[in-house]
Amino acid sequence: MQQLLRQIPQVDELLRMPALMQAARRQGHTPIVNAVRAELEALREAIRHGELEQVPSSAQLCQEVLARLECERGYHLQKVINASGIALYTNLGRAPLAKEALQAIQQVAGGYSNLEYQLTEGARGSRNGFVEPLLCRLCGCEAALAVNNNAAALLLALAALASGRETLISRGELVEIGDHFRVPDIAAQSGTRLIEVGSTNKTHLRDYAQAIGEQTGVLLKVHTSNFRMIGFTESVPVAQLVRLGQEQRLPVVADLGSGALLEAEYYPFEEEPTVPQTLRDGADVVCFSADKLLGGPQAGILLGKRALIEQMRRHPLARALRLDKLSLAALEATLQLYLDSEHALKSVPVLQSICAKKEALEQKAQQLASLIRERTPQQVQLEILPACRPVGGGAAPGQWLEGYTIALSSPSRTAAQMEAALRAAPVPVIAYIREERLLLDVATIAQEEFLLLAQEVAQVV
Ligand SMILES: *Cc1c(COP(=O)(O)O)cnc(C)c1O
Repeated sequence: MQQLLRQIPQVDELLRMPALMQAARRQGHTPIVNAVRAELEALREAIRHGELEQVPSSAQLCQEVLARLECERGYHLQKVINASGIALYTNLGRAPLAKEALQAIQQVAGGYSNLEYQLTEGARGSRNGFVEPLLCRLCGCEAALAVNNNAAALLLALAALASGRETLISRGELVEIGDHFRVPDIAAQSGTRLIEVGSTNKTHLRDYAQAIGEQTGVLLKVHTSNFRMIGFTESVPVAQLVRLGQEQRLPVVADLGSGALLEAEYYPFEEEPTVPQTLRDGADVVCFSADKLLGGPQAGILLGKRALIEQMRRHPLARALRLDKLSLAALEATLQLYLDSEHALKSVPVLQSICAKKEALEQKAQQLASLIRERTPQQVQLEILPACRPVGGGAAPGQWLEGYTIALSSPSRTAAQMEAALRAAPVPVIAYIREERLLLDVATIAQEEFLLLAQEVAQVV
């Protein structure tokens, strides 16, 4: 073993090989040195474990190093198949885009566009000019602004309307969104002072009224988008807060989070405030994510009174938080689909998956099941089971949608082994396990993915 270890070439010796010298010129010295070190370390490990009887030649090692560098170059952000049934899965990129949105991105991204150019006047235009009229028409508001995401929207709204002054918020609405980020912390970064009113479970209108003073700038309502309180609870609806705001000449800002753009009757769950209803209730500013229930690209939408939206548009942070042209293209295309609600239900993937009828999902499950069955041995047990799934992504917490899963069990592999193997497949599959069976929920699997998924499952079972 010692003898083999001594035969390993020095780092410098490999770096002098012409192929690696050329690679270093084109890809930089440091990555090549790192790859050589990693290769030699792997070699030492293999020798120590008794896995090698001969040290490869320098030429061979050189090829290994080049292969290692090539390997590192593949895309790491990649497509996965979502078999969890959770339509808004934040870790899986939230909303998949509609075909129309993808086409819009492709048209705009590959060349130049009129992003900030008025074609009729031949003069400077506004990048917000494409989505603002659409949002006003869809939601019934005076003005609209799209920024980077909803956290940015809230930050901008409070910076423009309440910086240096106080913002009142209920203690029951201090939401932690995810990954340890909290709405009150984000709000505080705007320079406003957050004043908590009420108690955790109960906040009354008088709690807000008593806290209003000279320094108050905004009454903030935050939708408890990812948790529910039950029992002895009370919160103040937007409409009541608006009456108080009007008396005291204070704007009401409502952070809805999930952004349900259609009227409530279109969604298969309850108690999720919709954007049009919140505006009808009189909220002065409403903000929400474009990649949650709306089913568009990552963006934060601000809607409301013209004078207030104008204040945000002129705020320096508006420039720091502005939306890029790819997202704007996708957002405009997605919003166009909403001009006809039936059309939106058919063509926005998030809505397709959330609003899918039980019978349609059963049919989908049968279709996928037979594709898998054709490719797997008899011993693999496959069953279609009714199942419930959450919406995810901060929408309709605690409510379950009905659907179907395909349950798999194999005599030769455990559910955990199959789950891990599917995650490692060429196009990774995110499935889940219940009672020692691997489950694939069809609600979030696109028809176009069926064949590939069936092949990968057959490989794994
Ligand atoms: C999701 C959410 C946010 C953050 O939205 P992003 O678009 O992820 O920045 C803010 N507030 C509420 C209530 C939310 O649900």
